[in-house]
Amino acid sequence: MYCPYCGDEDLRPHEDARGAAAGQAPQTAPGAWECRSCARVFSVRFIGLLAPVVAR
Ligand SMILES: [Zn+2]
Repeated sequence: MYCPYCGDEDLRPHEDARGAAAGQAPQTAPGAWECRSCARVFSVRFIGLLAPVVAR
């Protein structure tokens, strides 16, 4: 998996820093990744499955 912005491979799951600041366990935002190269945080979201194409 590569960063869609800079193409680097150093991607890690993004942990929400607000939870850690409040003394709670860091929450991993669903689908969020952070690039350690360009410091961008982006999300990869599963939308759904393609419906089977029905021939008519
Ligand atoms: Zn990047």
